[in-house]
Amino acid sequence: MLTPFREILEERRAAGAAAGAFTCYDATTAIGVVRAAEARRDPVLLLVAEASFRSPSGRLLLPALLAVADAARVPVCVQLDHVDDDDLIDAALAAGAGAVMADGSKLPTDDNAAFVSSVRSRAPGAGVEAELGHVEGGEDVAAATEAGALTDPDEAATFAAATGCDCLAVSIGNVHGRYARPPALDWDRLRAIRERVDVPLSLHGASGIPDADVRRAIELGVCKVNVNTELRERYLAQLAAGLPAARDGLRLLELEESVIDAVSDVVAAKLAVLA
Ligand SMILES: [Zn+2]
Repeated sequence: MLTPFREILEERRAAGAAAGAFTCYDATTAIGVVRAAEARRDPVLLLVAEASFRSPSGRLLLPALLAVADAARVPVCVQLDHVDDDDLIDAALAAGAGAVMADGSKLPTDDNAAFVSSVRSRAPGAGVEAELGHVEGGEDVAAATEAGALTDPDEAATFAAATGCDCLAVSIGNVHGRYARPPALDWDRLRAIRERVDVPLSLHGASGIPDADVRRAIELGVCKVNVNTELRERYLAQLAAGLPAARDGLRLLELEESVIDAVSDVVAAKLAVLA
């Protein structure tokens, strides 16, 4: 069932858990994500990447994911991820997105705050996630990445209060894509941010962070965890493995079902860590 962003995050926070947010490049992935969430009776977030939403075919993905979310037996919210373009944000909100990530993290802090405040004022019914400090790395192509600018706890407090964002993505040593070196998350920084900021915190780039560290981040106040790379790895591995047999007899349906199962397995394992 379609459920407000804030409601999902607050419920997870109260439960001492985090909501899994999974990037879906097609409806097949979304079906796998929701299947795992339903089996566990966990809420879940479906993410549309900016590159998807920018393309004419990808523009159809958002309504497709909304349909998957609407039919789900668990709370689901569809979010446009990491966008700094006002037109794209407005288009996603008009199309019914439950949340947007207004990512001004490459801007000076004041400009970032002005951008997020502006989005907040245009999206009264939708969730708005912001990012302070910068989580490095590309969303759609995995490359070895070093950590970017870290979130300043005092700045985060001022920023969250000024913008009215519903969720704040923190940069504490996490990156998108593949970690150039084993991740060393800055726990003191996360603790300091949590002490000063009351809105739900999110951790991006969870693929590659050991489960024990993800759990520790949740114990220190993270209640949304974004996952993308692991899903793509498993999806493509299953596609490659299943393709020879599928070609014999053009068994497209069976191939797609096997990909849904593979995605669902990855998501179930991740949700178990987040619960
Ligand atoms: Zn991200």
